[in-house]
Amino acid sequence: MKEAVEKTEERKNAFFPTYSVRSVYTLDFERLYEEGYRALFFDIDNTLVYHDEPALPETVELFARLKKIGFKTAILSNNGKERVKRFAEAIGADYYQEKAGKPGVKAYLNAVREFSLQKERCLFFGDQIFTDILGGNKAGVPTVLVYPMGKEKYFHIVLKRMLEKPFLYFYSRKHALWRNEP
Ligand SMILES: [Mg+2]
Repeated sequence: MKEAVEKTEERKNAFFPTYSVRSVYTLDFERLYEEGYRALFFDIDNTLVYHDEPALPETVELFARLKKIGFKTAILSNNGKERVKRFAEAIGADYYQEKAGKPGVKAYLNAVREFSLQKERCLFFGDQIFTDILGGNKAGVPTVLVYPMGKEKYFHIVLKRMLEKPFLYFYSRKHALWRNEP
């Protein structure tokens, strides 16, 4: 099922995103196109994939879909050249900028210029308020705060540990019983 972007409250300050979404992978991008957006900029780590992981088959599929809808795509990452170049090429992004210097505005403005579009027709997706969102807002590019994938991964681990606890408890009890056996 496709998820519509959820517009946040009226933007109060530079730390407030225009929208927020749970994941870029379940998003209704066709609707964003209908709303007038023409270029999508993405952070990589914890936005498209877990930190430092390569592009997933789903990422490649997603960017093919975006292209088909008619979007121009760009990767703006503070990560190094090797990672960003390889990632952008694997997914077929139209433009990329490594060591983007977010929350500085330069990379955002360069991407806008690259596609000869109005800022309002671009949309930036990122997981970090103090780099991704702050930079986009300063540059005047609408922003989407994406729930960080790493956090989710971490949460899964925490959850797993929590679920493990009762098993460990009963296991240790059982173990103790065995030990108590004559
Ligand atoms: Mg990130």
